[in-house]
Amino acid sequence: MSDAEHSGEFEPVDVFQTTEMDLRGGADDCYKCSTCDSECPVAAVDDEFPGPKFQGPEQWRLKRKGDHDIDDSVMSCSNCMRCDSACPSEVPLSQMHNTARGNYVEKGMEKLSREYIRNRILSNYGTLAWFGSKVPRLTNAVMGSSLVQKVNEKVMGITAEREFPEFAEQTFREWWEERGGNATSKKRAGEARGARGPPCPSDHASGPEAREEMERGDAQGQNDQKRVAYFHGCYSNYNTPEVGKAMVRVFESFGYEVLVPPQKCSGTPMFANGMLSDARRAAETNVDELSAAIDDGADIIASCTSCSLSLRQEYPELFDLEGIKDVSARTYEALEYLRIHEDLAGALEGNEIEPERFAYHAPCHARNQGLAGQAIELLDHVEGAEARDVGDSCSGISGTYGWKEEKYDVSMKIGAEMFHHMEDAQPDAGMTECPTCAMQMEHGTGYEIRHPLEVIDEALVD
Ligand code: SF4
Ligand code: SF4
Repeated sequence: MSDAEHSGEFEPVDVFQTTEMDLRGGADDCYKCSTCDSECPVAAVDDEFPGPKFQGPEQWRLKRKGDHDIDDSVMSCSNCMRCDSACPSEVPLSQMHNTARGNYVEKGMEKLSREYIRNRILSNYGTLAWFGSKVPRLTNAVMGSSLVQKVNEKVMGITAEREFPEFAEQTFREWWEERGGNATSKKRAGEARGARGPPCPSDHASGPEAREEMERGDAQGQNDQKRVAYFHGCYSNYNTPEVGKAMVRVFESFGYEVLVPPQKCSGTPMFANGMLSDARRAAETNVDELSAAIDDGADIIASCTSCSLSLRQEYPELFDLEGIKDVSARTYEALEYLRIHEDLAGALEGNEIEPERFAYHAPCHARNQGLAGQAIELLDHVEGAEARDVGDSCSGISGTYGWKEEKYDVSMKIGAEMFHHMEDAQPDAGMTECPTCAMQMEHGTGYEIRHPLEVIDEALVD
C-alpha cells in the first residue's frame, strides 16, 4: 500500500495521459461485475446509454487496441459519481469519465455547434451570474419570462420547462463586505468564545485571585484561534446568500473566525460538460487562494456538497497543481466539520424551532463523501424538527444535465422516485445540501426547499 493510501489522501491515477491516452492502469482492475451499471441512474431510464462500465474500463481496453475515438455517449453521463462508490474494485470511474469527456469535447466536438456553445454557457454559470447579479431584478424579470425561456430553448437548447433560478438582490459577498468582512467575524468569534468559555473563576476564588484566573482564561481564549475559510461557490453567492449567512453565524457561534477568500466556480459544471481547460483555470485560482488560507491556519469548508467533492476528489484526480493535495486534505462539508471538531449534537440538544416536518434528500455527491445520514441525525436533536429521509435515489438534475432540452425527460424520469417519496412524507418543506437537487425537488413537487444549515442556524443562533 502506498504512503498516500496509508494517509487516506487521494492519489492521482495517471490513467489517461494527455499526449497519448492510456487508461490501462484503471481498466485492468475492472473484473466486469457490472455493479456500477446497476447503480447508474441514467442507464436505469435511458436504454441508449451504455453505462459506466462501457464509459470507463471498456473504452480504454478498446483504446489499447488502436486509435479508438471516445464514444459520444460519454456526454450522456450526468457525473453523479454514484458508480465511483459502487465499484468494489476501486476502478477510478469518474476520473476516467471526466478525462474522456474532456478529450471528446476538445477533439470531437465542433466548437461552433449549438451543443458546444450551450454547454460552455451552462458550465460557466458563475460568469453569467456575475453579470446577472449586477441588475438582479431586471435579470430575473427578463430571464424568468416564458417568452425568453422559449427562445432560449429553441436557440440554445436550454429547457423552457424549468423555473429560472432567481438572483438575490444582494450577493453573499456584498453582505459579507457590508458586515465588515473578516474583521467583524474575528470579533464575533472572539465574543462567542468569551461567552462559551473560558470557565468562570472557581467559586472559592475571589478578589485578585479571581481576576488573575479570568485573565489567564482570556489569554488562552485569544491564542486558541479557530479559523475556517468558506468556499461559498456560485449558488450561495448569487442565488441563496441566506445559506452562506447561516453558515457564518453557526460557525461564529462556535468561536470560529470565518475567512471568505477570493474564489471562482469549484468546476463541478465544467467537469460534467468536459470543459477541462475552464475547470483548470478556476482550479488554479481556487488552489492558490485556499492554500493561502491554509497557511493562515484555516481549514476549508463548503456548504455545497458538490463543491466540497470537487475540491476533495476531482481536483487532485485531474490536475497537478502545487498545493492541491493540501487543499484536498483540508476541505470539509460545513456540518461534517462541526461534527468532527465540536459537540454539535450536544449543542443542538434541547434547542427548538417552530415545528416543521422536512423531507430530506441526500445528494449523490454527499453520499460519495459519506455524509448521507448526518442532516437527519443532527435534526433529531432539535425540538420541533422532524426530518424524514426520502430514500437513496438520484434527484436526476445533476447540475446542468437536467437543464439541457434533450436531457430534461431523462432527468425527470430519474427524479420520479424521489418526488414520490417526498409526496409520501407530506412535509412542510424539502431539505438538501445541493442547490441543483433543491431546484429539482421544488420543480417536481412544489415544496419550498431548505438547507440543513438554515435550520441549524434557526435552532442555535436565531
Ligand atoms: S457518473 Fe452517474 S451517470 Fe455517469 S456513468 Fe456513473 S453512475 Fe452513470
Ligand atoms: S463495478 Fe468496477 S469492477 Fe465492476 S464492472 Fe464496474 S468498473 Fe468493473
